[in-house]
Amino acid sequence: MRLVFLGPPGAGKGTQATQQAEQRGLRYIATGDELRKAIAAETPLGREAKAYTTTGRLVPDDVIIALVRELLEQPGSGRGVVFDGFPRTIGQAEALDRLLEERGEALSAVLYFDVSAEAVVQRLAGRRVCRQCGATFHVDSLPSKRGPLCDRCGGELYQRDDDRPDTIANRLRVYNEQTASLLDYYRAQGLLVRVAAERTIDEVRAAVNAAIASAVGGNANGQGPA
Ligand code: AMP
Repeated sequence: MRLVFLGPPGAGKGTQATQQAEQRGLRYIATGDELRKAIAAETPLGREAKAYTTTGRLVPDDVIIALVRELLEQPGSGRGVVFDGFPRTIGQAEALDRLLEERGEALSAVLYFDVSAEAVVQRLAGRRVCRQCGATFHVDSLPSKRGPLCDRCGGELYQRDDDRPDTIANRLRVYNEQTASLLDYYRAQGLLVRVAAERTIDEVRAAVNAAIASAVGGNANGQGPA
């Protein structure tokens, strides 16, 4: 099973994608997480990406496509993959089609997380991320039980630089200008399934399970096809 979770930043894709990956035993590939790791480790990729991510601009397609190619070549992608935050441009979507085709694979479904701009701003401004394991929380809707520390690993929670108000506006503009056109791209391929994502995390999880079941079979409780 190969799924793309598509939607504006702050739509809840990461929360749902990590849950689905765990539940279904799929590999979770989030280009944003990979870039943040590279930036923290000051690798050549991190040095190149930093100026883009801190201002909310997209990292160039060739850099991102090379990164995804490398990730797919690592072991562990065989059972399936959930892509979060990739692709973000038509060029990346076409490259993904080619990368999968080379492997004799194809996308199973693209889940579009539909939320209003107001909800996105509220979610991003309250988001907190674990410095150690990358788990995400929200100060109101999903607080960590351990306050400033991560529930899962005890790591320190922080606010991403690009979750500050001025950068949020830029990221939403970039999404509308460069990523929203992917909806038509995947609709034309018959892969797009809309998820009404302006609800609680549990409600959205149920909608995601139902969307996957409708696209690839299996039941709406997250169990895959027999
Ligand atoms: P995210 O964690 O998905 O919100 O990504 C954080 C930032 O990383 C974005 O604002 C971009 O600057 C960069 N980024 C992540 N994924 C991509 C991608 N597929 N294409 C271009 N830039 C990306």
